[in-house]
Amino acid sequence: MSTSLEISRLAALRELLSQREVDGFLVQGPENRRYLSGFPADDPNWGALLITPAAAVLLTDFRYQLWAQQEAPAYQIVVYQANLGEALAGLLQELGVHRLGFEVSHLTCRGYQRLTEMVAAQGLQVEWLPLEGVVEELREAKAPEELEAIRQALALSETVLRQIFRELTPGKTECQVAWEIEKGLREGGAESLAFPPLVAAGENSARPHHQPGDRVIQVGEPIIIDMGARLHGYCADITRTYFLGPPDEQFRKVYRLVRRAQARAEAELKAGLDSLDADALARQVIAAEGYGEAFGHSLGHGVGLAVHENPTMSPNPERRSVLKAGSVVTVEPGIYLAGWGGVRLEDMVLLKEDGAEVLNRYVDFYEWD
Ligand code: ZN
Ligand code: ZN
Repeated sequence: MSTSLEISRLAALRELLSQREVDGFLVQGPENRRYLSGFPADDPNWGALLITPAAAVLLTDFRYQLWAQQEAPAYQIVVYQANLGEALAGLLQELGVHRLGFEVSHLTCRGYQRLTEMVAAQGLQVEWLPLEGVVEELREAKAPEELEAIRQALALSETVLRQIFRELTPGKTECQVAWEIEKGLREGGAESLAFPPLVAAGENSARPHHQPGDRVIQVGEPIIIDMGARLHGYCADITRTYFLGPPDEQFRKVYRLVRRAQARAEAELKAGLDSLDADALARQVIAAEGYGEAFGHSLGHGVGLAVHENPTMSPNPERRSVLKAGSVVTVEPGIYLAGWGGVRLEDMVLLKEDGAEVLNRYVDFYEWD
């Protein structure tokens, strides 16, 4: 990403910070740190940003100095010798920060204890203010460069998934298929996986999140595969449900219903919708056929630098928000029946003012008369 992108993101962040009445903000969440600075390290301990109305500093240690200088040119790089707390205290004093915001979702309790103690030990009067979701909110609406990275990550994921399906034969274990996915994504150019591939066969597919094991894939049972590549920092997330051999009546019925719920949501989703109403688009379809209890998770989630990010389209009012234009979200209804199995279908869509654009290029859904 270009430096001008980081400069405009800093300006947008400073605007939000002035509303929160803080004069400094400590950023440690890896995706937030990457979004604001360009420094792509995955580990939360590899650096922290300190942003004030006038300064943008990346604090890191010797191991990451050259990397940070190269990737975060809009930032002053401060390399600390002993520990982050001491360097932070010096900077807070130098920059005159008295009300420091920090990311309550990303700073651990231990980290908080250590940092506040060290800053206090320097005799500084700093008020620590827990902030939540500030950078996450900025990350919701994607810039064209981000959309392009997401499209590429999804295209690669789809290519690999189609190949996996062509080679899906009875006798392979879930773990073997998961490894084939991992290998395919990496050989196809993914920088990493967006998340460990999920392969769930037979009764295991009744678990929405199953860890692949040595279960052997057989003819005549549902097989859920949920996977995604990470490319240029951005994630993809796609799920298809397969069936080897002629699908039985139960599978057809459940599959058709999940697909109908998904298609309805994709047709009616748009920016400006309340997330509760968005979730209901698919949930109503499933509940009307008596399977409401079997759809026990959210309809979808934002995808970007993180595979799960804002917004959430869930029936939980605590996670309520208004959907933004430019957000990329998954649409992933599912029905899970203990003892039988499950069906989940997951696409990615881009929310616009007047609707939703499905980003998947290959549909690959079963259709029966
Ligand atoms: Zn998924
Ligand atoms: Zn998902």
